Amino acid sequence: MVTDTLTNVTPATAVKQDQVLLSIQNLRVWFELRRWGFGHAGYVRAVDGVSFDIHCGEAIAIVGESGCGKSSLMKTILAINIPTEGSLTFDGKKLSDMGRAGTRWYRSQVGYIQQDPYGALPPFMSIQRILEEPLIIGGVKNKDQRIARILKVMSEVKMHPPEDFLNKFPHMLSGGQQQRVVIARSMLLEPKLIVADEPVSMLDASVRVEILKLLRGLQEQHDLSFIYITHDLSTVRYFSRRIFVMYAGRLVEKARVDDLIRNPCHPYTLALLAASSDPDANNALRFREVPPGEPPSLVTPPPGCRFHPRCSQAIAGKCDKQDPPDFEVEPDHFVSCWLFE
Ligand code: SF4
Repeated sequence: MVTDTLTNVTPATAVKQDQVLLSIQNLRVWFELRRWGFGHAGYVRAVDGVSFDIHCGEAIAIVGESGCGKSSLMKTILAINIPTEGSLTFDGKKLSDMGRAGTRWYRSQVGYIQQDPYGALPPFMSIQRILEEPLIIGGVKNKDQRIARILKVMSEVKMHPPEDFLNKFPHMLSGGQQQRVVIARSMLLEPKLIVADEPVSMLDASVRVEILKLLRGLQEQHDLSFIYITHDLSTVRYFSRRIFVMYAGRLVEKARVDDLIRNPCHPYTLALLAASSDPDANNALRFREVPPGEPPSLVTPPPGCRFHPRCSQAIAGKCDKQDPPDFEVEPDHFVSCWLFE
């Protein structure tokens, strides 16, 4: 198990700088549904009122089930989706005010590590071509400079000797090597923020540990901010300082990782911990029953608290009618649940 081998790694707790790098405020990302011949048929409310800040050099994790809106949130941070409402501010500049050149600059500042390394690398391109492409788009015209940058980054992701890999094609590499190429590609333009979408979920357990240690090392070495998106709580505490739990398009609990493991509050967080394979999680939590049912439709979400149809502690007449705001249960620990009013 990944965590067995990571137990000697100090949990990520320190924020080296106190400056906010990325600020997301009341973000909504809705997609219009259209039915052939009938026109407008509603909206998919993939992200529905999400707010948080990330500091320079800070790693945070966003956890939740498939379909909770994590990917839509990630694509909005990567400037692929356009927000329906709300704002995204990076390094003091609003994304919506940046214009075309500013958005290009912003994209160079945000690296992306995909989940499936094989799918992320074009099979017909050599590793050199794959890694040169972002540098060409980024305006590095001199080929020697491009190759020097590629070799440096490949060394940093521990592909030794880097020259040996340049003329290879993705299918000639192992899964772990492919993921190192994906990581190298995300680092080429010296970004300030990396968004990693389930970066180890497709890899063998032994390789996962190596890749997580590599990511942690790169994050510390370059003082990178990091958004680690996952459904697997077992790897989060070794990588992230804070954790945000997402359910049906909303963040239902936000806390430092240690606080959340010690004092999980939202019934959905308890369910996630119950399903977690984290050996450090409180045993009493691990044997709680996972609530039955599926996450709600994002087209017609239930009124009130979106978790109420699955929640055994729902307060009749309240949870099914009123949307809970965030309540602060301890410093820097917020939960969106009426039980903590
Ligand atoms: Fe359960 Fe009510 Fe809390 Fe929602 S607000 S999680 S339904 S107790």
